Amino acid sequence: MPSTRPSRKQFLAHCAQLAACGGLALLGSPLAACHRQGTRTATPGSRNAEPDIRPAGRPRAGIDPDFEPGYVSLHRSGELKRRGDELWARMARCRLCPRECGTARLAGAKGECGASADLRIASYHPHFGEERSLVGRGGSGTVFFSHCNLRCVFCINWPINHDGQGENHDIEELATMMLHLQDQGCHNINVVTPTHYAAHILRGLDRAAARGLRLPVVYNTSGWERADVLPLLDGVVDIYLPDFKYSDPAMAHRYSSGARSYPEVTSGALVEMQRQVGTARPAADGLMYRGLMIRHLVLPNDVSGTKGVVEWIAQHLPLDTYVNLMSQYRPAHRAREFPALARAITRREFELAVQWARQAGLTRLDIQGG
Ligand code: SF4
Repeated sequence: MPSTRPSRKQFLAHCAQLAACGGLALLGSPLAACHRQGTRTATPGSRNAEPDIRPAGRPRAGIDPDFEPGYVSLHRSGELKRRGDELWARMARCRLCPRECGTARLAGAKGECGASADLRIASYHPHFGEERSLVGRGGSGTVFFSHCNLRCVFCINWPINHDGQGENHDIEELATMMLHLQDQGCHNINVVTPTHYAAHILRGLDRAAARGLRLPVVYNTSGWERADVLPLLDGVVDIYLPDFKYSDPAMAHRYSSGARSYPEVTSGALVEMQRQVGTARPAADGLMYRGLMIRHLVLPNDVSGTKGVVEWIAQHLPLDTYVNLMSQYRPAHRAREFPALARAITRREFELAVQWARQAGLTRLDIQGG
């Protein structure tokens, strides 16, 4: 079978052309017609001769020029590489996520998440559908990783997360994607569903930092993160963007592939994330550079246990913690097989969720659709 994976040369040419076009970088999509030519320049400080794809004259990034993310100093000291290597070694008998399936990913096996050691990415592009302080004017620089360790039955991205849609790439290509997003004027690098690729992401950041990446990193996760992995992200991640999906272990077990530990593990993870980055507050330019931003999708028939979620946050985190209460649930993937999840939420259900959050004392609610 001939490989459908683009060669390294094709990939870099693809990036350069897209950079010159200023268009979306959807991997595997046909190249848009483009009449301008990107230029390749060597990047000062690069540890190898990898060409940069930054076109001449393009602004580096739409962020505060005085901002320096923590991973840059970790890169300079060699600590970022060391942590990436440590996470990489954990894939020998993988325990990167709470499933602890012990898969020999480095030997080529695929874990319960669907991932082997091969880095698989569905797409990368400026995204304008995230929270306002992440989107700004230039968009959030999202990298969508294929596969997922949580595997919810109602997953809206199931072709990517469950079926593994995407293409394989190496670490240098991941770094190139991040730099391309910076060149497009994105305000951050938003790694979506990152948990099973934490090692690849740290190695990619190490390479990208060497080549000039300076954007804050958003860790866009289900929240189901191991307590012994998060400390390795301390100083690397600038903004944690976790879900807090359920307060009831039985619901997590039923609808997220047996993840009964979700409420306990995720609540512990949120405390650690808060310790690392603190409360999220936008800067004077309206952009978020640091902090914890929690998302909670209200599910029908109180599957999400919203009262328990918001009360836990109010009792264990600052009352001005940013909490995005989301109302947009629609049945997707296998949700219609489960009567409790087979419909959208009602207006009354969402009003109750907002009421519970306010009664709990939360003061920084972002109420979508309310
Ligand atoms: S990240 Fe994947 S392979 Fe590793 S423990 Fe979790 S499910 Fe298993």
